[in-house]
Amino acid sequence: MSDKKEIKDQLKRPIRDLRISVTDRCNFRCSYCMPAEIYGDRYKFLEQDKLLTFEEITRVTNIAVKLGVEKVRITGGEPLVRKNIDILVRLISEIHNLSDIAMTTNGYLLPKLAQTLKNAGLKRLTVSLDTLNDDIFRQMNGRNFGVKSVLKGIEAASLAGFQPIKINSVVQKGINDHTITDLAKYFINKGHIVRFIEYMDVGTLNNWNMKHVVPAKDIISKINETIPVKPIKAQYHGEVAKRYREINGPGEIGVITSVTNPFCGGCTRLRLSPEGSLYTCLFGTRGTDLRGPIRDGASDQELVEIISNTWRMRNDRYSETRNINADKTNDKKVEMYHIGG
Ligand code: SAM
Ligand code: SF4
Ligand code: SF4
Repeated sequence: MSDKKEIKDQLKRPIRDLRISVTDRCNFRCSYCMPAEIYGDRYKFLEQDKLLTFEEITRVTNIAVKLGVEKVRITGGEPLVRKNIDILVRLISEIHNLSDIAMTTNGYLLPKLAQTLKNAGLKRLTVSLDTLNDDIFRQMNGRNFGVKSVLKGIEAASLAGFQPIKINSVVQKGINDHTITDLAKYFINKGHIVRFIEYMDVGTLNNWNMKHVVPAKDIISKINETIPVKPIKAQYHGEVAKRYREINGPGEIGVITSVTNPFCGGCTRLRLSPEGSLYTCLFGTRGTDLRGPIRDGASDQELVEIISNTWRMRNDRYSETRNINADKTNDKKVEMYHIGG
């Protein structure tokens, strides 16, 4: 029997997912997330002692599971640059009543780590790759890494037994939108699932503008010209991607319509930042500190109270009110690399 408590936010949404950002560091400098001109050699990332330890993260996860969390996703920054990340994967995979543990990564370090992660109990992998065009990819990742470096990681993950792998591709008008069909075709042939993400106004640094967004319906029309697809049902309530199946084959793709068709009503995600703050929305401006109470000796019950109260107060629905609220707040949004996608 599960001893889970059901807590709901102001819009009656339960907590089901925990996204854990394990580091604010990254080996890439994607222009839409951590622009290289800002995150240069002298940029000060969080010091090691400011990060939650693996034991602290596991403790918070255990409590979150008692409050309803069923799925955990490890993200960042780049989660694979956090030393010994497989140890955290193992600790989390041993928690009872958790049905899924997944990771989102840029894939660069997977040739070295894929098998270790699989052995540690990681169930699913999402690898981000915006295009197969080498010149465009070198530009987009800000570090001049070639496409091959990521493809090698995906191959290693596949060999380690992660199948299918989800491939995240952020689509930006005039940058990589003319390459989406190639990406879909390539990964359909490999048995993986590309999910095209509408470019979002996360954080404060990417000079986002609606003009740079390619609406999901245009992404699907474009793909349809070469690969006929039809919509298929969501696998579970609150699934973020809208799924499409190839008409003439088993291939699948997805679109994440955060801008043109937001899905806040089904958003059951709680986020934990590397230094131990809770955020209840990707576009949050203020976190709730857990590291202070944890290091001051808070009991599990006290942590339950903090997490439950944070969730109960939640009324976030940023994407549904984006157009109404634009520019009305002076609070700075948290950066994407800080709390993960
Ligand atoms: N470093 C890992 C990676 O890139 O997969 C994990 C963290 S990254 C912040 C998580 C996801 O957010 C990636 O798939 C990335 O492409 C996506 N992302 C980052 N900035 C975005 C933006 N402005 N709009 C949409 N997706 C974005
Ligand atoms: Fe790094 Fe991921 Fe952000 Fe790219 S999207 S800079 S890989 S954290
Ligand atoms: Fe969830 Fe916030 Fe995104 Fe809406 S905008 S889906 S509440 S993270």
